[in-house]
Amino acid sequence: MKVLLHACCGPCLLEPYDAVAQDHEVVVAYANPNIHPAPEYRHRFDTLAEYASQAGIEVVELAYDPVQWMRAVAGVEDVPEKRCRACYALRLGMVAREAAVRGFDAIATTLTVSPYQDAQAIADEGRRAAAEAGVEYLDHDFRERYPNATRRSRELGMYRQNYCGCLLSEIEADAQRAERRAERAAAKAVRLAQRADESGSN
Ligand code: SF4
Repeated sequence: MKVLLHACCGPCLLEPYDAVAQDHEVVVAYANPNIHPAPEYRHRFDTLAEYASQAGIEVVELAYDPVQWMRAVAGVEDVPEKRCRACYALRLGMVAREAAVRGFDAIATTLTVSPYQDAQAIADEGRRAAAEAGVEYLDHDFRERYPNATRRSRELGMYRQNYCGCLLSEIEADAQRAERRAERAAAKAVRLAQRADESGSN
């Protein structure tokens, strides 16, 4: 089959591409209007494109229209499960329509290589988008390949982002890191206080 494989970034492309290309003819589609800001979108694309060029992989870049993403998630911005589902639906819809226009048989996505994504919601939205466009959806859960993807992307010196993509995910990731730092600082303060108590009582 001819498969248009949606890819969110270079590190996530590595393992899913190898898996799907074992059995199919694959072209990669970069369809990610969710990524904020624009220089980050370009940086992720350039990382992916550099690897693809070295590996002889064909890549098509679909429209980058952040307003389209904002409209897709309007009203559910503060509900991550709903927001991410709408984000998957937008991106996989773009890829499915492109696949139909270009005469591909099926679509697939690299998104399920990440343990941080909702694999069930991705499968639901992938199937829905493919059916609407009249192509097949190849439902792969790539999560067991995540450690390999991480190792290979590090070895290749690829840029590895520390948030999913949208502005909200950047804010959420920053907040989670700040929370972890505060927890570590609090635990350290407790240890130091205990040591001071122990040495004071000696
Ligand atoms: S967190 Fe990731 S999947 Fe969810 S809406 Fe933001 S960019 Fe999309």
